[in-house]
Amino acid sequence: MPESRHVAIIGAGAVGVISAIEALREGHRVTLIDPGDPGGEQAASYGNAGWLSSHSVIPPAEPGVWKKVPFYLMDPLGPLAIRWSYLPKALPWLIRYLLSGWTQARVEKTAFALRDLLKDAPLLHRKLAEEAGVPELIERNGVMHVFPSRGNFDNDLGWRLRKRVGVEWMELNADEMRQREPELHPRYTFGVVVEEAGRCRDPGAYVAALAAHALSSGARLVRARATGLKLDGGKLVAVVTDTGSISCDAAVVAAGARSKLLTASVGDSLPLETERGYHVMIEHPEVGPRSSIMASDAKMVANWTDRGLRAAGTVEIAGLAAEPNWKRAEVLRDHLFSMFPNLPRDIPSSRIKMWFGHRPSMPDGRPCIGHARASRDIVYAFGHGHVGLVGSARTGRLVAQLLSGKPPEIPLEPFAPTRFL
Ligand SMILES: Cc1cc2nc3c(=O)[nH]c(=O)nc-3n(C[C@H](O)[C@H](O)[C@H](O)COP(=O)(O)OP(=O)(O)OC[C@H]3O[C@@H](n4cnc5c(N)ncnc54)[C@H](O)[C@@H]3O)c2cc1C
Repeated sequence: MPESRHVAIIGAGAVGVISAIEALREGHRVTLIDPGDPGGEQAASYGNAGWLSSHSVIPPAEPGVWKKVPFYLMDPLGPLAIRWSYLPKALPWLIRYLLSGWTQARVEKTAFALRDLLKDAPLLHRKLAEEAGVPELIERNGVMHVFPSRGNFDNDLGWRLRKRVGVEWMELNADEMRQREPELHPRYTFGVVVEEAGRCRDPGAYVAALAAHALSSGARLVRARATGLKLDGGKLVAVVTDTGSISCDAAVVAAGARSKLLTASVGDSLPLETERGYHVMIEHPEVGPRSSIMASDAKMVANWTDRGLRAAGTVEIAGLAAEPNWKRAEVLRDHLFSMFPNLPRDIPSSRIKMWFGHRPSMPDGRPCIGHARASRDIVYAFGHGHVGLVGSARTGRLVAQLLSGKPPEIPLEPFAPTRFL
């Protein structure tokens, strides 16, 4: 039986709360630390698209992406936009981002690693949801990708790599797609259904329910902002917060895009950046998709949630502090109107909700899961970028295995924080 430890988990997003559940399962005592509500609007885990896409293994940067950088800088409303004012700060991260996608071999390494992390994730999430008493929030009925033409799909390196890592899918021609999705605009003439994937009907409610489950299983929640980690020699003694120190034997840094300060407090300077994303949600929409759809041209997911029809996606590099550019959310709304032409254009603004949040992103598209250099009492679990909801289930298990000194269930070398140090 591994030694039971008092573990402080910093951050109660999807990664933090699932780490808490798995650490409790291992017999550890858990304190969750977050200034906000678990699953609250401050967390990326609240406003994401809700896709549990175990096939989302392709990192954002692919070979040749550098050619698009001028467009990223010129178009503040494009699918990937970089704010000029933030460019000097983002540059080191952007260079690493471009280099990580420089060759197909590098992209492929990430694809295989992410496949290990994400495989079976819809099932793992379903089991967690059942445990937490909210099984209805996780559905495992597949998701659909739609393309203006078959050529768009054939030319996409990502789908060739997905085949190589073992993802399977069903291809649909225009008629078959129309039968499944009668409201979808006819400009989409080719579709792909990935049946292994799932979706979450309400990511915020899911995380809140998981947190409630952790608390009812013995975890404690402290409303505070962690500001540092205190070591005595190589041993962790406390997490320092804005309301005082919390003594503990081990800590997990799962503060999403705000984890950088905490790792720096123990000497690890890691290239974590925020890939800011937006969502727009139409409450009680008149029409929409029957399933959950990713449009290749809009780079956006349209997903039914219990709160409404949510369109989420695209990336803005502008740092943690800059004000949101709500025009980017309006672009998502307009894409939604264009994908589903029968959606009335005069929906009252009171039925349209907008949100923006911070994807915690490492330049190579792989999260950091592993020990701090300064102490094996500190486990890092952040940087999941575009796949943090789907990836949180196995990450929580890996965190618990690291805390207990057990062999991790998948190879952790591709996720080692030391790859950047
Ligand atoms: C528009 C958009 C769409 C997305 N779509 C998907 C999708 O369909 N599928 C998918 O898998 N992923 C998706 N993602 C990515 C996913 O949402 C994130 O990767 C994931 O939510 C990250 O989870 P997390 O727990 O690491 O961080 P978060 O959910 O951001 O949680 C971090 C928590 O840490 C707390 N915190 C911060 N600083 C401190 C501190 N100093 N002390 C204590 N607590 C602190 C915060 O309050 C917060 O509650 C999307 C993201 C966006 C923005």
